[in-house]
Formats: sequence, structure tokens, C-alpha cells
Amino acid sequence: VPAEPSKCTWHKEADPTNSPHTKKPLRPLKKIHANALETVGRTPIIRLNKIPQSYGIKCEVLVKCEYFNPGGSVKDRIAVRMIDDAEALGKVKPGATIIEPSSGNTGIGLAMVCAIKGYKCVVVMPEKMSQEKVDTLEALGAKVVRTPTDQGSYSRNSTFLVSHKLQEETPNSIILNQYKNASNPLAHYDTTAAEIYEQCDGKIDMVVGGSGTGGTISGIARRMKEINPSCKIVCVDPVGSILARPDTLNVNRGQFWEVEGIGYDFVPTTLDRSVIDEWIKISDQESMPMAKRLIREEGLLCGGSSGAHVAAAMKAAAKLEAGQRCVIILPDSIRNYLSKFVSDAWMEVRHLQPCVNSMNYWWWEN
Ligand code: PMP
Repeated sequence: VPAEPSKCTWHKEADPTNSPHTKKPLRPLKKIHANALETVGRTPIIRLNKIPQSYGIKCEVLVKCEYFNPGGSVKDRIAVRMIDDAEALGKVKPGATIIEPSSGNTGIGLAMVCAIKGYKCVVVMPEKMSQEKVDTLEALGAKVVRTPTDQGSYSRNSTFLVSHKLQEETPNSIILNQYKNASNPLAHYDTTAAEIYEQCDGKIDMVVGGSGTGGTISGIARRMKEINPSCKIVCVDPVGSILARPDTLNVNRGQFWEVEGIGYDFVPTTLDRSVIDEWIKISDQESMPMAKRLIREEGLLCGGSSGAHVAAAMKAAAKLEAGQRCVIILPDSIRNYLSKFVSDAWMEVRHLQPCVNSMNYWWWEN
């Protein structure tokens, strides 16, 4: 299990003749695509019109809707990039089995690539993650292996060690390892960040995202800092996780959190904490009701970590002025959580308020 900060070789001072960055421009908009993989990326940015206003936020607040990706999440980008890069290096050969520890979305992205390219796919995923993710993976033809949630990343039954054991037993198999693979932050440096820059005409004062592997926020942050060093990067960390800095923010370490895909009990190599300006801890009580507000009030059919990101942005963006701009990443979609926070009954059992600051039912009550 990696415990060191990022040592990926994608730093801007790296030798440009030996640069790992893609030389390809962002993909053009086509009328007809050859396959689903060609539709990864180029996701829309949409303005929030009610939620920031209800908090008295003065700046413009925009969301980058990664759930528009064909597999339903931001992780489609790294699935395509990690397989493309491994193929180019001859590490993934015909008939290969791709094995990956995942909280589900990288697994879904990889399973989609494997379905299209004809590889086999095994996704090792903690029990905590939703049944919807399992069903989607199995529909894509992947095999799903579940590991106990409560034993941590260092245990014998962790997703990492179980993946390695499976790889040893499986001929022609590879773990691309999103937690260490430089293609992960590179995918976001080369596409997600480039798209945000293009869509905002370069005017971005703050970016808010979360960290699972840290690939999304590190890749975006690195590029934003190069273009505009005053752009502030805010990273969300669930209460119970240990990623935030300073470490004193990490109270209640190890406490269970419901939100899927962000927070860990170790620091992934792909998370570069040196490019994060501010960390904000967020609880399930804040994340889940905010995700429901995004769906109900803004019509954005997002997942739980999107709620965490927006809840944190409502704190961080309070410091921005009118005329400034905050961009928030919405990583995945409602599809993964239909039996979880989307259900008011599920929320009630966990003592989570269905909606905060809700004006939603005025027409019903009156
Ligand atoms: N939100 C969700 C729902 C995710 O699945 C992930 C990926 N684990 C993230 C946020 C964080 O993305 P990253 O791994 O790039 O930090």
C-alpha cells in the first residue's frame, strides 16, 4: 500500500522532450462516433442557480458534470487513458485480464473499455459500495469480488492484497493500479483541466473537488496552477478519512462514512497534496442532503460525492467576490445510488435529513 506523496513524473519541470502529456488536441465534436469510448470527456459545465443563492454566495458557481460520461463517471477518463498507455507500452496484450481495486467507478470505466476491446475484467470492491455498481459491472461482463469494508487498506482482505492475489493466480493479467498510475492524474491534466479552461475562457478563481485516488484534483490543480497560480484549489475529505491537511482536521479518524468514492485510510501516490490550498472536512449529514438538493432544485442527477463537493464549495466560495468564479466537480450520477441516498427511507434510517434549506414542497403544503 503506497504511503508516500506523489512521485509521478508529470511535473511541469520534467524534460519536455520526454513529456508524458498527450500531444493530441481535445477531441472534436463528431456527428457519429465509432464506439462509446469516443464519447468520454467533453462534459458540460452548468451554472447553479438556486443553491449558492440560498447561501448568499456572491460569485458565479459552476459544476462540471462528469456524470455525462458514457460509463457514468469521471473515472471513464482514466480507464481509457490507463488502458491506452498500457497497450502502447505492450503491457496489455490480447486476451488479457484487467484486475483493479476500485470503489466502483474506475471498475465500471475499465469494464466498459474491456467490453469494447475484448479484454476480461475483474473488479475488487469493498462491501460498502452500492449494489447498483455491482449490477452495472456484471452487466458489462466484469467479475466482481467483494472485500470487507471495516478491515482497512492494510488488512489481508483489503482490495489491494486481494487484487494482487488474484493477479498471481491469473495468467496474462495486470493491475493498472489507479492509486499509483501516472496515467490517472495525467488524464485529468490533459483533458478535464483543459476542458474547464476552454469552457471558462480561462477565467477560473477556484476549483472544488474531492480525493479518492486524488487523480482528478491533482491533475486539474497542477494545470490550473501553471495557467493561473492564484486559482485556489479546494479538496473535500469526508469525516473519518485521513487525507486532509493539516492533520489536526482529521478528527474521528476511522469513523465510517457513507459517501462513496472519496476519503481513505492511507495517502495514495496519485494524490499530490502540495497543490491543494485548502481542505474541508464534510460529514454525511452535509453530503447526502446536498446531493438531494442538487437533484431536486437544480435538476442535476448526480451522486453523493457531488453533494460533498458542493457542500464544501458553499463554505469555500463564501470568500469569493461577485464577478469571481468557482468550478465544482460532480463525479458520478444518481444511477449508482438509487437504493441509497436517493431513497428517503434509506436517509431516514440513518437519521439524515432528506433536504436542507428545502423550499421544495411549498406547492404541496399550500
Ligand atoms: N467521487 C466518486 C463517486 C468516485 O467514484 C471517485 C473515484 N474514486 C471520486 C469522487 C474521486 O476521484 P479520484 O479518484 O480522481 O480522486
